[in-house]
Amino acid sequence: MTILVTGGAGFIGSNFVLDWLAERDEPVVTLDALTYAGNLENLAPVLDDPRHTFVKGDIGESALLQQLLASHRVRAIVHFAAESHVDRSILGPEAFVQTNVVGTFRLLEAARHYWQQLPLSEQEAFRFLHVSTDEVYGTLEPDDPPFTETTPYAPNSPYAASKAGSDHLVRAYHHTYGLPTLTTNCSNNYGPRQFPEKLIPLCLLRALAGEPLPIYGDGQQIRDWLYVGDHCAAVRRVLDAGTPGETYNIGGWNEQTNLAVVTELCTLLDRLAPRGDGRSYRDQITFVADRPGHDRRYAIDARKIACELGWQPAESFATGLEKTVRWYLAHRDWVERVQSGAYRDWVRTQYGAR
Ligand code: NAD
Repeated sequence: MTILVTGGAGFIGSNFVLDWLAERDEPVVTLDALTYAGNLENLAPVLDDPRHTFVKGDIGESALLQQLLASHRVRAIVHFAAESHVDRSILGPEAFVQTNVVGTFRLLEAARHYWQQLPLSEQEAFRFLHVSTDEVYGTLEPDDPPFTETTPYAPNSPYAASKAGSDHLVRAYHHTYGLPTLTTNCSNNYGPRQFPEKLIPLCLLRALAGEPLPIYGDGQQIRDWLYVGDHCAAVRRVLDAGTPGETYNIGGWNEQTNLAVVTELCTLLDRLAPRGDGRSYRDQITFVADRPGHDRRYAIDARKIACELGWQPAESFATGLEKTVRWYLAHRDWVERVQSGAYRDWVRTQYGAR
């Protein structure tokens, strides 16, 4: 049997595939369209691994999906593929609806048709795990309790709305057709291989380049932060032991303002890669106009996954952030290729690119 991982060349998906193959023997088929956020180099350690197959393709391609599911006898789908950047969703929401809503719908349809033809014992074992975000719940006031699995959905950005739409489709496919689905709603991830448009790698690399570190508004927006390896472990745990039809919130019990995150990052960089002029990277922090409709606070109550499935984050923010910074410092070639776009040329020579 095999698991199909969508979006496995992106940040979280690639960490998931690498961790999976390091821990388990079960083969993986990675399906990824290699958009600007997909980087085949993220999967370099397993591209020649006989247990791993990479397929360049879109989750919207129904015929391809049917063929992959049947030919690899897939027993679980782990669905990471998405347009994932809030700022891009504000500038151009259509791709978010197309991939996150329509793409997830096509994947669900392919999964349903395939699943309905499996023998009963394989039907029962089959899983469709949908990876989603805490942003579907909207924004919290400072004194509100954190989001639980029963918090009503109130997405505020086009990104969050498109993920909310996909979550509802997944729910409906379980309720209507009995497809054994699982949904996870996770807080902000950080760690190795994150595309440098997101807060931590953006500020890390701009700091090293001597550029201003842009902080939206007053920097007091609060997010919960989770190390990507912990997220991947949680997804594996839900896949192994989660109850079909259920959703699980995943978080790090680690609420921080954006300003505090960037300040801690600067302090760490001061220790690991000092500027050379005796000054702190904190001096590069600059406040810029806030993002339209910027949610003030997200926080995750992760007690359900802890109590029912026994998952807890292993990394503290301090240890996770240090691992992250050390990874970027040790992989300057990865950074250069991502920033220069050369990795896209590399992809083009390997597989063609869109
Ligand atoms: P990412 O942008 O780094 O990676 C997305 C991957 O999906 C890329 O490899 C891209 O090429 C691929 N992709 C995009 N459209 C596709 C399509 N139509 N068909 C096939 N592949 C396609 O994203 P990420 O940060 O790794 O997030 C992965 C998932 O986790 C997303 O569903 C996201 O909503 C969710 N999530 C992310 C975070 C976070 O902090 N990054 C937090 C919670 C949930």
